[in-house]
Amino acid sequence: MAKIDFELPKLGPNLEIPVLQPDAMLGAGPFVAKPDHQEKLGFPGELVDDWQQVAIDKLGELVNKSRGLKVFLDSCVKCGACTDKCHYFIGTGDPKNMPVARQDLLRSVYRRYFTFAGKHFPKLVGARDLTEEVLDEWYNYFHQCSQCRRCSVFCPYGIDTAEISMAARDIMDAVGKGQKYCNEIIGKVHKIGNNLGLPEPALINTLEGLEEDIKDETGVDVRLPVDVQGAEVMLVTPSADFFAEPHVDGLIGYAKVFHQAGISWTLSSYASEAANFGMFIGNYENMRKVSLRIRQAALDLGVKRIVFGECGHAWRVAYSFLNTLAGPFDFLDQRYPVPQHICEFTNDLITRGALHLDPSANDDKVVTFHDSCNVARASRMGDQPGGQFEIPRAVIRASVNRFVDMADETIRDRTFCCGGGGGLLTDDLLELRAKGAMPRMQALKQVIDDHGVTHMAAICAICKSQFSKVLPMYGMQMDMIISVHQLVGDAIQLGTKE
Ligand code: SF4
Ligand code: SF4
Repeated sequence: MAKIDFELPKLGPNLEIPVLQPDAMLGAGPFVAKPDHQEKLGFPGELVDDWQQVAIDKLGELVNKSRGLKVFLDSCVKCGACTDKCHYFIGTGDPKNMPVARQDLLRSVYRRYFTFAGKHFPKLVGARDLTEEVLDEWYNYFHQCSQCRRCSVFCPYGIDTAEISMAARDIMDAVGKGQKYCNEIIGKVHKIGNNLGLPEPALINTLEGLEEDIKDETGVDVRLPVDVQGAEVMLVTPSADFFAEPHVDGLIGYAKVFHQAGISWTLSSYASEAANFGMFIGNYENMRKVSLRIRQAALDLGVKRIVFGECGHAWRVAYSFLNTLAGPFDFLDQRYPVPQHICEFTNDLITRGALHLDPSANDDKVVTFHDSCNVARASRMGDQPGGQFEIPRAVIRASVNRFVDMADETIRDRTFCCGGGGGLLTDDLLELRAKGAMPRMQALKQVIDDHGVTHMAAICAICKSQFSKVLPMYGMQMDMIISVHQLVGDAIQLGTKE
């Protein structure tokens, strides 16, 4: 377990509103991107001389471009409904982690430069000059928002703090103060094709090793093909699936699904990453550049369908923006969703009887499901409202005999973020991640105590990595977190059909 030098919140029987701890999370924020990381993404290497003016101009540009952002900045009535809904506030007690307070960090500057009242009577309307102190505060507290959108569910005006946080990060990149973790990763995707910087030979080697593992375990030749021309499906999956636990067992599960259904498929060495960190930094050009790799790979390989593996924000970008960023995808088979989520794909096969699953293979487990926030609140699956909640649960229920949901107020559209989303899955933010995970840990502990839950399944690469790290901090087993497609893969009866 990682050594920690901070005190974790206690897990009680109920989720309590924390005692206020002003400035508890005041600090310098995560590591700042080096000039090299910045410049590769088209940003200034370091803070530019006239940064105040550049920041104000950028804010004006964003507000003009996005009506949503302008409405969010204009319409808060300070009703307080969002104040206790953020996992980072619940876990840290820092009032600046209340969503409304986080929004006000940007709103106060917006008011000062873009509203009549703020220009003429700044004190009366809480408007502030953009000073270095304000910029530092932005950098720290906008990197304490995982852009999970939970607060927006409770806001009577639907104000989405995630959009405000993305805009703030976009402005900070524009003045030369970006975050190292996100920007370094995006640079690797632009250069090599995945977050890890895993080159093609290493990818092929890894996949061949996994094929051998599956053969040893099952006696069946299940393939993990790369760059196969003319395959029916191109699978785009987070690169964590290639090596990290428990992600890799999910990848093996997808391979078994394709094998058993007899559908030809391929991975791409050019687009070997589903994740799109361009969204976390709120930057359209970088998000588009990452998305265009997927389009190019699909064209080059001549595939008919694109399926996304288990990843939350990848699915948000795919579902909500891919067609706008990189479309039209009129060269794909229009009888299928463009793109399609692996859970939709598998659920469709299960429904049609094309997979033979034996849930008793998972009888050593009592399973619960963590709704990942980007899937739950920023996308959909299938053709029915709420499909993003029902389809993963349907896949799990077909694969296990014992399934239990966590408390209602912590699942579906009210799910809590894992604590590591939104570009915060870096060890320089470990304290924030650990404390922000508390609400999910509390709900999980409750179903462990009440129902003997042994495993929590998830469909997001970030959630899986984050939980592997924080579960032991809360006295739970690291391997409690599993991929949904690990459950599927273990339940599939290879070589049989119904
Ligand atoms: S989007 Fe999520 S992390 Fe950000 S303020 Fe709202 S609840 Fe907190
Ligand atoms: S719930 Fe909405 S309107 Fe109310 S304080 Fe929060 S952001 Fe403002």
